[in-house]
Amino acid sequence: MKYFYVCSGCDKHFDITPDLMVCPQCSQAQREDEPLRGILEVAFEGELPRDFDPLDFLPVERQYFPPIPVGNTPLWAPQRLRAKYGFPNLFLKDDTANPTGSLKDRASYLVAAFARKHQIRDIVLASTGNAGSSMAGVGAAAGLHITLFLPKSAPPAKMVQALQYGAKLIRVDGNYDLAYDQSMAYSHEKGGLSRNTAYNPLTIEGKKTVALEIFKQLQQVRQTPDYVFVSVGDGVILGGVYKGFRDVVKAGLLEKVPTIYAVQAEGSSAIFRAIHNKGQFGMPVSSTTIADSISVDIPRNGYYACKQILEHQGRSILVSDEQIIQAQKELATESGLFAEPAGATAFAGFLKARTELPADANVVLIITGSGLKDIANAMKGIAVPE
Ligand SMILES: *Cc1c(COP(=O)(O)O)cnc(C)c1O
Repeated sequence: MKYFYVCSGCDKHFDITPDLMVCPQCSQAQREDEPLRGILEVAFEGELPRDFDPLDFLPVERQYFPPIPVGNTPLWAPQRLRAKYGFPNLFLKDDTANPTGSLKDRASYLVAAFARKHQIRDIVLASTGNAGSSMAGVGAAAGLHITLFLPKSAPPAKMVQALQYGAKLIRVDGNYDLAYDQSMAYSHEKGGLSRNTAYNPLTIEGKKTVALEIFKQLQQVRQTPDYVFVSVGDGVILGGVYKGFRDVVKAGLLEKVPTIYAVQAEGSSAIFRAIHNKGQFGMPVSSTTIADSISVDIPRNGYYACKQILEHQGRSILVSDEQIIQAQKELATESGLFAEPAGATAFAGFLKARTELPADANVVLIITGSGLKDIANAMKGIAVPE
């Protein structure tokens, strides 16, 4: 298999090298307060075997991946939820089962492998919490030095994780967007490979493995996915999910990309607003949602995410914080899967959109992060006895 970058803006081709992050031409039009322009996408040429292993369908060879079991997460068949809502083919893709407790490990895993292949020791990133704890954990397995810019408002568990894994932590007095800017300035000045989400194209490519696994897990029971629900912040998971299904379609193993529901919080809805504004992003709006992992003012992968949604007739929907809190509690109580608020957001989206879906459809909810990562917000959905 041969891999190369294609610019999602101008279709130009590039070799995959550590110093290339965004398209040199398209990124010149970059304004400060908008999503990234010139996002590079990994393209492939070659035959994909029917029984492929997702790890062999990535642009870094298998031997460079660090010894930590990322991915291969279970696909649950939640009997009680199925019965309650009358969806006999409802599935939960449990990405809380990743080593650091979130789907972010898929991106960190590929970035770590790429760094090892190119003998890079230092990785720099900004995070709302999970990308940082993930890169720190996967980096620990790989023997990499991680420098992390984290807003002071990040849930303590995510910060503690990163420190336990041995990352160098810079606490930022401001939001994620400020942490992002500071991390970019730092890596430009001091060097190190940036793992900033969307900016490093391998973050999108790494996250595609969740779609490859869903495809394979349903293939085992002779099914294909009809609807997939994804929670959306920067839109990198969404982009990765589309990329994974598109790759399997391109390889001739799947007929069509499923209908994807991009679920955002009402208080962090930039992609939803852009979808209803011909793909244009207006001035950033300050985000407020209890789901910290999807709280972003400027979704870094916004243009790419909108393009995917529009080209594949995806849906963009919003849920309130109240709906997220209720969905988190209900998911835990009725299935046994305890997710953080952003992790339960896909379920909240399903509850809102389910009347639009045929009851016999194969519906997959991607549960992106563990409930233990944010106890403070989980307290809002329960009553603690005296
Ligand atoms: C990062 C994250 C998301 C959103 O992913 P984006 O790529 O930013 O859209 C959703 N849920 C959890 C738990 C996350 O950590």
